[in-house]
Amino acid sequence: MNGAAAQAVIEVEQQRMSLVQDLLSLGFRWMKFPDALEQEFLSKDPEQRLRHFLVSGLIALLVYDGFLVADYLLIPDVFSVAVKLRLVIFTPLSLLVLGWMWFNRDNPVVHQPLLLDSAVLLSGLFAAVTLAYALSITHSPLSDFYHAGFAIVVMYGNLVQRLRFWWAVGFSLAILIIQVGGVIVLPNFNPRLVWPICSLTMATVAFSLCANYVMERDKRRRYLLSERGHELVRNLSDVNLQLQQLSRVDVLTTLFNRRHFQEYLQGIWERARHEGSEVAIVMMDVDHFKRYNDHYGHPAGDECLKQVASVMQNSLRHPGDMVARYGGEEFIAVLPGATRALAHQAAERVRQAVETMAMRHESSETLPLVTVSLGVACCNAAEAGASADGLMAQADRALYEAKRQGRNRVSQI
Ligand code: GH3
Ligand code: MG
Ligand code: MG
Repeated sequence: MNGAAAQAVIEVEQQRMSLVQDLLSLGFRWMKFPDALEQEFLSKDPEQRLRHFLVSGLIALLVYDGFLVADYLLIPDVFSVAVKLRLVIFTPLSLLVLGWMWFNRDNPVVHQPLLLDSAVLLSGLFAAVTLAYALSITHSPLSDFYHAGFAIVVMYGNLVQRLRFWWAVGFSLAILIIQVGGVIVLPNFNPRLVWPICSLTMATVAFSLCANYVMERDKRRRYLLSERGHELVRNLSDVNLQLQQLSRVDVLTTLFNRRHFQEYLQGIWERARHEGSEVAIVMMDVDHFKRYNDHYGHPAGDECLKQVASVMQNSLRHPGDMVARYGGEEFIAVLPGATRALAHQAAERVRQAVETMAMRHESSETLPLVTVSLGVACCNAAEAGASADGLMAQADRALYEAKRQGRNRVSQI
């Protein structure tokens, strides 16, 4: 991803988070988030939603069929119709739908909230219609008690299956219409009972809608909180990553620091030992740098170190090469796979590049320019007794030798 694209992604994410924050502090109206967020919310935890639907559906079916006992006691004259409605039509149809959903549970279509809500709505309406039908054909004097079934259907949709709030409102109204409509068409229905019976269902509708509202509002708030939590964790991980990177980099020169170099070298060494290949190390030290500082001042010394660092970095650009600031005015590089001759050439390239930079150093005994001395060590990592620490010590000795021989030179062991 390029910089602009990354920036765009960050901006979108920031806007999303400020929206989440606003919804949390100001609330959301009409039980709905703005469109994009609403889609994300609805498509969250699809498996859990489906599982809830299937388990609740099965339990509700058992309860529905259990009402056959009530059918037998309240409307015995149409019991055979009730058996047909419950056991021959509703139960196999429901089992078919539940089974189809279970066997297709890996299919994303089955997880669609629209499909699940529609299935709940239709099953509830179907149950209400069967109740209304049984009521319309019975002549039993006890049939008035049968109306309690509508309140149970309302609870099934609003509380057990937890339809989304607006769906629950529509569902409740539809059940009320079926019940009231059914009551009105009954030939011998006692008008005095219309209000008591319907008010039972209406009270169930009102209370269950209140509970449904609170449950959905809490669910939506939990969703927003979890989104904000994820964002905080993501931010924390980013900051951690930045801190880790910072802890590996030298602030002045922006080269890697000694700690990172040592870790990197260890990895290179292990691989080379495995492959039986060479590893070379180049150590570099600025000549008479104390005098440079004394002569030009510490800030100029810092600038000089930055220049030298970038020269070394630019001169060693083979894949796998890594340059680091070892400390003070000392730098180090590892050249994986470099032979003795190649490592020597690379070090010489660095030395010449520093000299060519032609940075004034009046108080140097070597040249009136900034110069560096370099020590090179190379070995095959698979050699008996070879070690990364041993190689570093050799490079250090070579550097000492370059200094001893007069500086501004490369020495190799
Ligand atoms: P030699 O040629 O033998 O290497 O002599 P030298 O003067 O370079 O070596 P010495 O070890 O005596 O001095 C190193 C100096 O590097 C001393 C120290 O103040 C300076 N130095 C170390 N780190 C920094 C830094 O970050 N910035 C600056 N400006 N100077 C630094
Ligand atoms: Mg030094
Ligand atoms: Mg020095």
